[in-house]
Amino acid sequence: MTAEKRRAWISLGANLGDPKAALAAALQEVARIPGVFSVRASRFYDTSPVDSSGPDYVNAAAVLETTLTPEALLGELQRIELAHGRVRPAGVHNAPRTLDLDLLAFEGETRATRALTLPHPRMEERLFVLVPLLELEPGWRSPEGVAGGDLVEAVRRRDPGQRIRLLG
Ligand code: AMP
Repeated sequence: MTAEKRRAWISLGANLGDPKAALAAALQEVARIPGVFSVRASRFYDTSPVDSSGPDYVNAAAVLETTLTPEALLGELQRIELAHGRVRPAGVHNAPRTLDLDLLAFEGETRATRALTLPHPRMEERLFVLVPLLELEPGWRSPEGVAGGDLVEAVRRRDPGQRIRLLG
C-alpha cells in the first residue's frame, strides 16, 4: 500500500559561514529526501538573533509533501544539519549555527515528546518563523490554536525588537 502524502512545514535558519548558500543547499537536500515531494520555499529573510548570539540570521520556511512519519522527517532534517557541520556545544543554549532545521507543523499530527513537539512550541514567539510561513500560507491557521490560529495576529503581537527584512 502506498502511504498517503501529507503536508509538513519546516523552518530554516543559519548565521555562520555563508548562510544564504547553506539555506539554498539545504532546500535542495530536503527535496532529495526519499519520501519528500514538491518542496515550496519562501523567500529569504535577514533577521536579528533571538535568544541567540552572533551575526544576523538568514531565515526561510518551506512547505512540502511527504509520505514519511514526523519522526522520520525530523531524523532526515537532523542528518542534513549535521552534514552542514552544525555543532551543539555542551551547555550552550541556541549556539550560533551553520544550519538549523525545525519541523513547525505536520498535517494531522500533534506531539508532546522531548524528541518532537508539534506544532513547534516556540513558533508563535518568532517573527523569523511567522513571517516566512505567512508568505507561503497567507491563510494558514494553526490547528492547535497558535494565537487562536491567527498568524497575522501573532505577528502583530510580537516584540518590536525583533528585526526582519526581506533579503535583496
Ligand atoms: P535545536 O537545537 O533548537 O534545533 O533543538 C533541537 C532539539 O529539539 C532536538 O533534540 C529535537 O529532537 C528537539 N525537538 C523537539 N521538537 C522539535 C521540532 N518540532 N523541530 C525540531 N526539533 C525539535
